[in-house]
Amino acid sequence: MPIYCFVCECGARAEDVRTMESRNMPMPCPSCYREMDRDTVAEQTTTTMKEFHTPIEMHSIAPTNQAEHDQLVRAGAEMTREGVPVARSRHEKMRLLKLVGFVEKN
Ligand SMILES: [Zn+2]
Repeated sequence: MPIYCFVCECGARAEDVRTMESRNMPMPCPSCYREMDRDTVAEQTTTTMKEFHTPIEMHSIAPTNQAEHDQLVRAGAEMTREGVPVARSRHEKMRLLKLVGFVEKN
């Protein structure tokens, strides 16, 4: 699930892990109890918070045998019916790539 950022009129900041569907649910301020606003600027500064518009099917790392399939499933990967891993965010994509032995190069 993605992390959403919130900011309050009093200056307090908070982060919350939520489903995409509940991203705009009220977030009470931990210090003054007013309702906080989404801080989309803060969200954009962290790539792990970015959700893909459409989940991507990662055909390049689709398991070719049962052991690879089991490894992905054990790691909590979402799979299509055809057995292709699905990533809903950059964070998840990188996690799955790392899991199967790809390393991010910067
Ligand atoms: Zn506040």
